Amino acid sequence: MDYPKNIRELGLDQLKEYFISIGDKKFRAMQTYEWLWKKNARKFSEMTNLSLDLRQKLEADFELNSISTDLVQNSADGTVKMRFRTFDNHLLEGVIIPTEKRFTACVSSQIGCSLSCSFCATGRMERKRNLSFEEIYDQVAILNEQSIKSFGSGLTNIVFMGMGEPLLNYKDVLKAIERITSTDSFGMSPKRITVSTAGVAKMIKKLGDDGVRFNLALSLHASNDIKRNEIMDINETNNIKSLTEALNYFYAKTKSAITLEYVLLNGVNDSLQDAKELAEIYKRIPVHTINVIEYNTVDGIAFTKSDENNTEAFVKYLSGRKVNVHIRRSRGKDIDAACGQLANK
Ligand code: SAH
Repeated sequence: MDYPKNIRELGLDQLKEYFISIGDKKFRAMQTYEWLWKKNARKFSEMTNLSLDLRQKLEADFELNSISTDLVQNSADGTVKMRFRTFDNHLLEGVIIPTEKRFTACVSSQIGCSLSCSFCATGRMERKRNLSFEEIYDQVAILNEQSIKSFGSGLTNIVFMGMGEPLLNYKDVLKAIERITSTDSFGMSPKRITVSTAGVAKMIKKLGDDGVRFNLALSLHASNDIKRNEIMDINETNNIKSLTEALNYFYAKTKSAITLEYVLLNGVNDSLQDAKELAEIYKRIPVHTINVIEYNTVDGIAFTKSDENNTEAFVKYLSGRKVNVHIRRSRGKDIDAACGQLANK
């Protein structure tokens, strides 16, 4: 019988079959499965209730291909950034953002990014490859261990707001979330998970068809197509109208929460006219919240953040139009861990 090389592609039943086929006991399957998904072993040699022979046999028959921690950086504000290395020597980053009540992991879905949003540091890196579902899962497992170590609490929330565009790595992102939410693993509620997208209308609809239970965030960042085309190339093929339609479809199918992300760029998208157009878009989409995000400057990129007065006026305008709006202050800037700063520096 041929089994996938990647042991984490085998379900429990397939593992049972495998152990029987090598003349071993069926219960080894459960032991191995627990090492993989409960104890998050990252090497076969860690599976210490299996005999040395058996561990060597597994090593010969399968691959585990876990990511390893390469660097941990602590920000003065408590944010922790971790750099990871893949089995084939690529680097990626994940972040833990602690608040009073929450420990949120921000995870990556790709190595680099194929989109080239003009304000984003990751967008200037080449996309090397997608992360596999187990590499995404590993980030969560390692960030969870680090969160316990640093804060005495495991992760409470996960956002797919690290490097890459999650909806361009659709299958593996969904499979990773299936593992993270499964009761034989973390058992995290999907309501505590948010996938953020630069806006791929077709894939937003597919999320609806697949009936996902997690939350969705759209990086809108401009409230008309002329401006959005200028800062986000993806808008040329996924304009605001197509995204509005896709989000309505998604909501009708899933009733999951939708947020809009809006980075305030000085002199680009932060006028009261922009706020007015944003309030109109808000009315056309079943949006839960608009997060107005403080822009983090990136070396070599000319954009700057809106000044305090403009930011306040922008938010005040929206609140006055009954928009549920929040300002998201940036975290972890001193270690380049803030939104749009992840670039393996
Ligand atoms: N590709 C997905 C996931 C990345 S999320 C998406 O675009 O949604 C990262 C978020 O940070 C996005 O909303 C992105 O637009 C925003 N961002 C990028 N560069 C930023 C910067 N320099 N300052 C603040 N936010 C930034």
